Amino acid sequence: MQIHNLSLQNSVLNTFISEIRDKNIQKDSMRFRRNIERIGEILAYEMSKVLNYKPMTIETPLGHSNTHLIGNNIVLCSILRAGIPLHNGLLNYFDTAENAFISAYRHHKETQEDFEIIVEYLACPDLSNKTLVLADPMLATGQSMVSAFEALKPFGKPKEVHLIRIIGSKQGINYVEKNFTNNTHLWIATIDDTLDKRAYILPGIGDAGDLAFGQKLQK
Ligand code: URA
Repeated sequence: MQIHNLSLQNSVLNTFISEIRDKNIQKDSMRFRRNIERIGEILAYEMSKVLNYKPMTIETPLGHSNTHLIGNNIVLCSILRAGIPLHNGLLNYFDTAENAFISAYRHHKETQEDFEIIVEYLACPDLSNKTLVLADPMLATGQSMVSAFEALKPFGKPKEVHLIRIIGSKQGINYVEKNFTNNTHLWIATIDDTLDKRAYILPGIGDAGDLAFGQKLQK
């Protein structure tokens, strides 16, 4: 797996990451969603640099312009619900992408620390030979990403896979590296050191789904 850690270079991305982390600014859910979307746009742009391009000629009112345009058949798949604003950011740049949605949530057993990932809803086109982009803002343990990928297998074998994450833990990245093959890229905006007992990323941002869409009742 190839890891592309965007935090290795300073850019305007730092501003958006700081705002989703900042406990005062992140309370503004509209700004939070928009920042996630903006980060999605930056990740999409960076990812676009390794896609396949076909030579094309564009007719202008005054002549012809030769260029290269994306040739990949992209399927954007996001994990509900935190993935929605990130999905919007990716779709802002990959205009003609097909779309898939999958729900994955942590089902807590006896304690907050002990949980399994439950995948329920899944809507997905044929993935055979396509470029699968699997998006979710947080890469904590990596289990939901691996569970989501397993659930997508009956829909066909993609040519390549791009995992899009905003904040990852070192532990989650190691887990994902073991479970994805060589034709996988991980695009990550920044990496944090550790997880707390509930497997939330530290220092992280808190619960991305709650920050974007409001608190849920824990059942
Ligand atoms: N999901 C979140 O929303 N936040 C984390 O820190 C980990 C998983």
